[in-house]
Amino acid sequence: MEDFSGEQVKRHVPAKHILRVINLILDGDSLRDALRPFYSHLGRPSIDPELIIRMLVIGYVMGIRSKRRLCDKVHLNLAYRWFCRLGLKGKVPDHSTFSRYGHGKFRESNLLRQVFESTVERCLKEDLVSGEGFAVDASLISADANKVRSIPAEDWSPQVARAAGNRAAQEYLETLDNAAFGAASPVQPKFVAKSDPAAQWTRAEESRPYCVFATNYLIDTKNSVIMDVEATRAIRQAEVGASRTMLDRTEKRFGIRPDWLAADTAYGNAENLGWLVKKRSIIPFIPVLDKSERTDGTFSRSDFEWDEAHDQYICPEGHALKQFRRNYSDPNRGQEPSGRKKYRAFKATCQVCPSKEICCLKAEARYVTREPHEEAREFARECRKTNAYKVSRDKRKKVEMLFAHLKRILGLSRLRLRGPNGAKDEFLLAAIAQNLQKLAKLRPQCVFQEPAT
Ligand code: SF4
Repeated sequence: MEDFSGEQVKRHVPAKHILRVINLILDGDSLRDALRPFYSHLGRPSIDPELIIRMLVIGYVMGIRSKRRLCDKVHLNLAYRWFCRLGLKGKVPDHSTFSRYGHGKFRESNLLRQVFESTVERCLKEDLVSGEGFAVDASLISADANKVRSIPAEDWSPQVARAAGNRAAQEYLETLDNAAFGAASPVQPKFVAKSDPAAQWTRAEESRPYCVFATNYLIDTKNSVIMDVEATRAIRQAEVGASRTMLDRTEKRFGIRPDWLAADTAYGNAENLGWLVKKRSIIPFIPVLDKSERTDGTFSRSDFEWDEAHDQYICPEGHALKQFRRNYSDPNRGQEPSGRKKYRAFKATCQVCPSKEICCLKAEARYVTREPHEEAREFARECRKTNAYKVSRDKRKKVEMLFAHLKRILGLSRLRLRGPNGAKDEFLLAAIAQNLQKLAKLRPQCVFQEPAT
């Protein structure tokens, strides 16, 4: 029988097949260069890492989650064989190879991140990224952990993790000081899964409790290209920290800092808004996380007008609320460790005020507080009144659509790999697949410019 290989097999793959486009983007030479230091020149020849990456790409692009099934599919499907450069006679590796590569060479060489960044570079080259506005969000993905076998947090300790002796427990110990995992919050969840202790026990969205990791996306809103991806514990502090990590990494790697960032209220705390506005000069199209708003009809802090020139608030009746009524020689006097400042009205003024009932019914005089980074919060509130904010709010939904696509079409509703590194690898591979699909959809003409092979 004739051995179909290379060009001959290619003739049987439709010109508009998604793998034809993806084939043009994956650079096998750079993959092999990155892995060269990790191979020995002695013993049995290793399996080509490019083959493993190509098979993984097929798995994530086509939503084939099981590695056994992926091996069967690659064995039988002509387009997959061509994409993997196996010809008709090439041997498909055993499914166990993926686990050996995944836990070993790929992680040491950071290969998956390199592949992901090459997809972003290609999107930049194809003019799919404007760099004007980014959106950030996180989504919960179930960990491969059995909640029935979880133990109460009080029975859990690093010693128990060491005794468990599995890879996920080892990774949990290594990430205890990592701001995206162990150090994200001193608050411990109620239960810990022994099989994957870094996963967060949660009861999000009124669901039954389950163990999750969070995948964080930073996207360019022009064409929903994923600019960066990060795995974290599923709590707000870790997700906000991840958004900053991704913004800085994107600027360092691609030299792009957006003019504005769209996100939901979870990202609207004072510290984060201060960081975006003052340190990075990014316009925050983010609702301010404000617990001072009152809903009982009495005056909220937003009813008091800030007078920057005189360092005071003006109440709805036109009276001044000041932090100090005299000049003190000690500039730190009255400062709270949190940086919050208190501005008080005159007791005598409030006592005779006609609005006292809807301002401070039970207190003798009204006071309002001013949080650190209040200027940034007020700037974010002003931004919210603009038309650009309304546009950004619509564009922000593009991240949610990517998450829906991730779970429904790519089938990533539950992780198959364990530990923080397993989550990181799966999220990177899913982002690679989504960017490649974006390229194939928006730049299908690539196939017609394909150089002769
Ligand atoms: S009660 Fe005091 S602070 Fe409130 S509106 Fe009247 S004068 Fe202003």
